[in-house]
Amino acid sequence: MNVTEEKKVSKQHLPTDKPHPWHSLSAEEVIEKLGVSAAEGLSDEDVKKRQTRYGRNVMTPKKQQSALVRFLLQFHQPLIYILLAATVVTILLEEYTDAIVIFAVVFVNAIIGYVQESKALEAIDALAKSMTAKAHVMRNGNKQEIDAQELVPGDVVLVQAGDKFPADVRLVKERDLKVDESALTGESVAVEKNVTPVEADNVLGDRFSMGFSSTVVTYGQATGVVVATGDHTEVGKIQKSIAGAQDLETPLTRNIRQFSHLLLWVILGLSAIVFATVMLRGESIGEAFMIAVALAVGAIPEGLPVAVTIMLALGVSKMAKRRAIIRKLVAVETLGSTNVICSDKTGTLTENQMTVQQIMAGGKVYQVKGLGYRPEGEVVDEGQQVDLSTNKALEQCLVAGLLCNDSNVKEKDGQWAIEGDPTEGALEVAASKAGFEKEKLVRELPRKDVIPFESEYQYMATLHGGNRHIIYLKGSVEAVLERSNKALKPNGETDTLDTGAINKQVEEMASEGLRVLALAMAEVPESTHDIVHEDTKSGLIFLGLQGMIDPPRQEAVEAVKLCQHAGIDVKMITGDHAATAAAIASQIGLKGEKINGKLKAITGKELQLIEDKELEEVAEKTSVFARVSPDQKLRLVKALQARDRVVAMTGDGVNDGPALKQANIGIAMGITGTDVAKDASDMVLTDDNFSSIEGAVEEGRSVFDNLTKFIVWTLPTNLGEGLVILAAVIIGAQLPVQPVQLLWINMTTAVLLGLTLAFEPKEPGIMDRPPRPANEPILTRDLVMRALLVGFLLMVAAFGLYLYEIKHGATVAEAQTVATTVFVVLEAFYLLNCRSLIRPTYDIGFFTNMWVYYGIATMFLFQALFIYLPFMNTLFNSSPLDVMQVLRIVGAGVLLNIIVSVEKYIRLKLGAGKALSMQAD
Ligand code: ADP
Ligand code: MG
Repeated sequence: MNVTEEKKVSKQHLPTDKPHPWHSLSAEEVIEKLGVSAAEGLSDEDVKKRQTRYGRNVMTPKKQQSALVRFLLQFHQPLIYILLAATVVTILLEEYTDAIVIFAVVFVNAIIGYVQESKALEAIDALAKSMTAKAHVMRNGNKQEIDAQELVPGDVVLVQAGDKFPADVRLVKERDLKVDESALTGESVAVEKNVTPVEADNVLGDRFSMGFSSTVVTYGQATGVVVATGDHTEVGKIQKSIAGAQDLETPLTRNIRQFSHLLLWVILGLSAIVFATVMLRGESIGEAFMIAVALAVGAIPEGLPVAVTIMLALGVSKMAKRRAIIRKLVAVETLGSTNVICSDKTGTLTENQMTVQQIMAGGKVYQVKGLGYRPEGEVVDEGQQVDLSTNKALEQCLVAGLLCNDSNVKEKDGQWAIEGDPTEGALEVAASKAGFEKEKLVRELPRKDVIPFESEYQYMATLHGGNRHIIYLKGSVEAVLERSNKALKPNGETDTLDTGAINKQVEEMASEGLRVLALAMAEVPESTHDIVHEDTKSGLIFLGLQGMIDPPRQEAVEAVKLCQHAGIDVKMITGDHAATAAAIASQIGLKGEKINGKLKAITGKELQLIEDKELEEVAEKTSVFARVSPDQKLRLVKALQARDRVVAMTGDGVNDGPALKQANIGIAMGITGTDVAKDASDMVLTDDNFSSIEGAVEEGRSVFDNLTKFIVWTLPTNLGEGLVILAAVIIGAQLPVQPVQLLWINMTTAVLLGLTLAFEPKEPGIMDRPPRPANEPILTRDLVMRALLVGFLLMVAAFGLYLYEIKHGATVAEAQTVATTVFVVLEAFYLLNCRSLIRPTYDIGFFTNMWVYYGIATMFLFQALFIYLPFMNTLFNSSPLDVMQVLRIVGAGVLLNIIVSVEKYIRLKLGAGKALSMQAD
């Protein structure tokens, strides 16, 4: 940097050049130094300049494990050790071709593993990144939402409970701000913040006037000025990767790893026995070693771990297409065995398209005409448009709804839509229909302060100044009635509050499925400039009720039906009123305990009185939970899990984190969800729609099916190979298949044949069977039996044809080529059986997965090269075969396919295909 530039920079006080002790300066000083107006924010021009100067607000990703290390780790698997040992042994025995081939296989395997793993990681990372963080800023005097990456020093950002700080900011305004800084300091107790400067040498945890990037607002709200972005933030400096490395391990891969360990010892044991037997028979050490190596090489399912990861990763991308973004690979697997889904109501099961239909004010009930957000319609009383001057309570009720409101109703491309909370949008539309103009009212009664809505308090309040100072408040009926002691009469005077009559009206509206909000007001002295929860505790004047419809999502109704059919219970957990919740739950078709023909809803208050043990029973039986607080969600998840339920639970709020973490699958809302909820989740719905959960479950089941198919297909090969060698040792024959040939079989068939099963489409009736019990082994007894049968048949065919060829004058090389080809061809025919575990092929359709045929065709081409290419003959000691030899092998393949088809048919008839017969219901 040259001198003039330096001067220019220091004149602009650009923050990241020389770190300022921002925390020790006063808020005013910071604002001045950063050259911004706290009220207006930066101008677009300013932003552009600063963006070229500072770049984007992104952190250079932390150095992951280097590619080399990740590649080397591919060799760090017990089964691969055996192959490496085999390489060494063959070198010592001067069997150099074998050594090269074995090592080549290990090497190729490592490359495939590495590439696939990288692809899986990239895919998951890309999905994670596609959910870019948002930030609320003041720019050009307007509040707007932007990508957090666009932030520059000097930007004025607004945060509230549930948000993450998108950059390092110096706080300039705050209300009850509490921040969880554990991402940065490790301290999990939330820190209270304020705008007062602190000592310059305070450590990070004591810089109370600052909000640091990626720490989480757990309470309250604040405005701050960005002082550092990207790598210059405190998290950026310590290079703590915020996303947290992706973990490719799941219970399934862990099981398979444990299985490999077990297999390792079994194989080593058997190899030792084989070695000893051959030695005792008087063969050379070299010969004995080669046979032991052959056994080890043949019996190891090299491709298995990689295949599992690939299939799970494929599931991730399939789910993404159905608008479910997987954040943790485990979820793919768990989804397949989910047996209860606890879902929010508003926006997930319903459209979140609210329209006020009824208003009760001053003791009278009115209807509101018109649908959607189009502000056309009218408020009517028995068909007649009402004159607002006849009912002051109605007028104030509408004004309260309009002013105690942060939404914005706008016409965009001929469509009326809202920005912000639909509940508030509906109130704004209702007021417009009655003829109120928002701009005018806002000018007359400008907002001085606000207590934003939080689920925990169930209300929102605003303070307005002008000729008079007024608080308007809206919220759940309970929250409002608790705070009111009077009601407004039509003539503008106040009356005593008739709670009984109001509640009766609420019940009536709610039982029709209307979402009911209550509104209230209070006149306050002109000296009031801000409000806190304490100020709205009591003494309010009740204004009225507004009841809005929020129709069920049609797709959700369908999805709920599918889930129930698939043995998955669906429960509604909502903050809404019990009667509203129960009515909507009935419309959606939830099942559960009923009273007087209506679904029974349990409220949070009732939950509090229930002991943990009893709750297990209640949680099982009930399907509607209303006015539930986040900590009660957590209790419900635990209660369900105590009965071995695999629970999927949705959440969006600040305090939903613990429940989402506790659930087997935590599902966060992509649109309305807070950063906290998304961070705690395993899966994010990009459309907030219940039917996307159902879609993900379907995909999860399908992935699991295909994995099982792969395993059932692959294990018999290894079993058959092991048996062939054992059999040869027992009867003292020469090895029918050499080690390098076994490797050829294992590697080529796993990739060309086995993996094509990953593209097997969902089986028909995938949602007609119960969820897989979570503790059920991957291979049921039936499947183990099939694997044993096929393994045995492979051995019989390979060994049988080998002996047949020898007997009829073939050379050893020819006979061994025949035996090798038997494995390849029979695996191909058996692959066709494996396209479904229980169904016959004609049931799932012959051509529903063309990959299988492409795979088989390629495999046969490779095998032809193996048999006929001189180079391959040298490398693998193979030898060309004649037509009859080939035909005999194909015949064996057809026979195997028929035998397995018959076996499947018998099992199906015997009722082992329970899943299928369920369809009959
Ligand atoms: P849900 O959206 O499932 O009803 P919430 O916890 O978000 O659950 O809301 C709880 C209750 O608080 C609602 O039933 C409603 O009565 C009230 N409420 C919801 N949104 C607002 C809001 N923006 N302002 C005031 N009150 C609200
Ligand atoms: Mg809500």
